[in-house]
Order: sequence, then structure tokens, then C-alpha cells
Amino acid sequence: MDSVEQGFADQIAYTRKLVSFHSVRGAEHAIQDFTFRELVRRGYVVDRFAMDRAAIENHPGGSPWSDQHSNAPIVVGIHHPRQETGRSLILQSHLDVVPTGPETMWQHKPYGGEIEGDWMYGRGAADMKAGAAANIFALDALRRIGLQPAATVYVQSVVEEESTGNGALMTHLRGYKADAVLIPEPEDNKLVRANTGVIWFQVEVRGLPVHVREMGEGANAIDAAYRVIDELRKLEAEWNDRKSAYEHFQEELHPINLNIGKIEGGDWASSVPCWCRIDCRIAIFPGVSAADAAREIRERIDNFAKQDSYFANNPPGVVFNGFHTEGYVLRPGSEAEAVLAKAHEVAFDAPLENFVTAGYLDARVYALYDQIPALCYGPVSRNIHGFDECVSLSSLQRVTAAMALFIAEWCGTEPLDA
Ligand SMILES: [Zn+2]
Repeated sequence: MDSVEQGFADQIAYTRKLVSFHSVRGAEHAIQDFTFRELVRRGYVVDRFAMDRAAIENHPGGSPWSDQHSNAPIVVGIHHPRQETGRSLILQSHLDVVPTGPETMWQHKPYGGEIEGDWMYGRGAADMKAGAAANIFALDALRRIGLQPAATVYVQSVVEEESTGNGALMTHLRGYKADAVLIPEPEDNKLVRANTGVIWFQVEVRGLPVHVREMGEGANAIDAAYRVIDELRKLEAEWNDRKSAYEHFQEELHPINLNIGKIEGGDWASSVPCWCRIDCRIAIFPGVSAADAAREIRERIDNFAKQDSYFANNPPGVVFNGFHTEGYVLRPGSEAEAVLAKAHEVAFDAPLENFVTAGYLDARVYALYDQIPALCYGPVSRNIHGFDECVSLSSLQRVTAAMALFIAEWCGTEPLDA
């Protein structure tokens, strides 16, 4: 813990540097280059590789491609001990961030990494550049006191976490396996017990363009899109009504959120719009297959269209263009969880709590396809995906200490390579 404290000023500076990269979807090359160099500098063997589209699309956990899919590389830093006596570990983070929205709505510079009191501000500061830095600095803290893990550790830096989850899946397809994974997403110093899956889809509605003076004869695609949204809201309500069947979600108020995230359509204020496209995101309970959920969404829209006088002849198109991912449950009682709980208790002087989340997490790749303990645990944050996103630095320091203690206990330690 003292060692983490000694390195914390550098860790903050490193986190700020990460925040300064505008690493939105498709623009993560520079930050991945930076990460590559930082891992090389520390002596890790570093593997840098591209997404394998065919392999991803052939895997049940792969999400469909779109034109917006990132082609930035995945970076994995590899530590091999002299003697493999402990349990191996993946430390993962994602460095893609969501758009900032209008910068005038921010009090702080979106990519400035400004610090005010206990908080560092910026898009991605919490989600999850602080965690990406913590992965590296937890290991650095051990090195500072002459120790290294006595087991193989993979430090994985991925992209596409905010849109498909294909980056994490790609590390799995590349063949990286370990006895446990830790992903320090901003989770309020808690451990994620269960998490939903997420489906992205796009609905395209066609209209009939006429001059507005003959509006009665045209079909307004934007008006029509609202009817589809109404129908999707009914589906959302029905899915939420099913929560009693899902052990960890019975107490959640509204675990299934449908977000209409983007809408575009029409060409001219005085022409009846002939097209409208909406981008949607909905959650699914762990245990529900993404394929079944996608089928239900498609059937729902098809059936609605058949009963609608306009849509019957102009059915909306549905395209699945991103997340096609399932939820997961971290089974209680694993040795990895016990080790993390102990480490957390030492770092925080308080027991480790757990909770359920209703967004996408890369941990699902390891929980579902490697069937290893997938620990999603990280610092306190505010406003992730919103304005003035920030991370608590005091929380981050303790989380990093808990991570260093966890690594030391889970992997064991040996004297640092000379
Ligand atoms: Zn995240």
C-alpha cells in the first residue's frame, strides 16, 4: 500500500495522459500505440494484433460489424515468471470512450484531465482510463518493492467495449487464457455480481415524399418511426415484467432499459420525410441468448408492421449493427472472489460489497466462454457517459492498492528479474 502511494503521483499523471487522447470509436490507434510503448518500456513482451472479423462473426459471442467498427489494434502485455508457481491472471481495460456531446455543456475540458479536489474530470477518466492505468501501476507497485507475480499475467488493452464487445472477444479468440480476470471498471469500490447483456439495433422506416401541401397523401417517415418506438416501449415493459425469473434482478426497479440513442431522417423542412432511422439499445437478462432476444425484437416489429395500415405495405427494416452480447453472473464462492474480498478489506478497512449492473461489461467474455471468475471491480465515479465525467482519486488509490494485494496473493510473488 505504501508502494502504491509512492507511485500515485505518476499514476495520476499517466491517467491524465490517457484522458488527453480523443479515443472515440475508430480513433483509438494513438492511445493503443502509447500503451504499447509503455508496456514495452516496462519490459513486458507485447503482442499487438488486429481484429479477425471472420473469427468474431463465427463466434456466438461476436457482435455484427458495421462501417463504424474500429480497426485499431488490440494490445496485450505479457509477464512470464521465472517459475510458474501461482495462478495466472488477466488484467483488462478498454480505452475507447463514448462521444462527449456538446462541449459547451461541460464545466471542465472534456479531454483535459483537470483535477479539482478529489476528482479528475474528463471523458473516459472513470470509464475506464483510470482502471487502465491502475492495471499497470498495481504491477509497478510490486516492482518498486522488488517483486513480480509468480504466474503469467496478461495486461490487455482493448477497444470496441462501448459498441460491440468484440475487442475483449478477440483476446479470447487469440488464445489468451488465465485462471481469473480482473477488470477495473468504475464500480463504486464494489464487485459486480451479475450484469445484463446488450443488443444494438437500427430500425429504418421508409416514407412517401410529397410536398407538404399534399401532406395527407404522403406518409411521414419520422411520424411513423414514433409508432415503432411506442411498440418497442411495450416490449421493454414486457421484458422488465419478466424480472422475477432472474435471481439477481428481482429487486431491481427497471433493469431492462431501452434507449433510443440516435435519430436521423428527412431531407427538407417542406418535404414529407421519406426516411427515418433510429439507433436503439436494449438490455437482456443473463441467461437470455442474444440470438433469441434479437429474434424477438425482429418478430415484434414485423408483427406490428403487419397490423399497421401503412407499414403493412412498407415494412420497416431492422439491422443488428453492434452489441449482440449476453449477460453473466459471477458465481459466489470462488477463491478469486475471496482473495479480492480480503485485499479490498485491507485497502479500505471495510468489507467488499457486491451489486448488479444493467449495462454491458467485457467480463462476460471470460465468465461465459472461459468460465473463469470474472471480477469487475473499480473506483468511484460520477457522470460516466455524461457531462463532467470524473473519477475519485482517493478511491482510485485504494482500489489500486487492493489490486496490488490481490495480484500478490492470487499469483504469488517472486523476486523481480534482475
Ligand atoms: Zn467501461
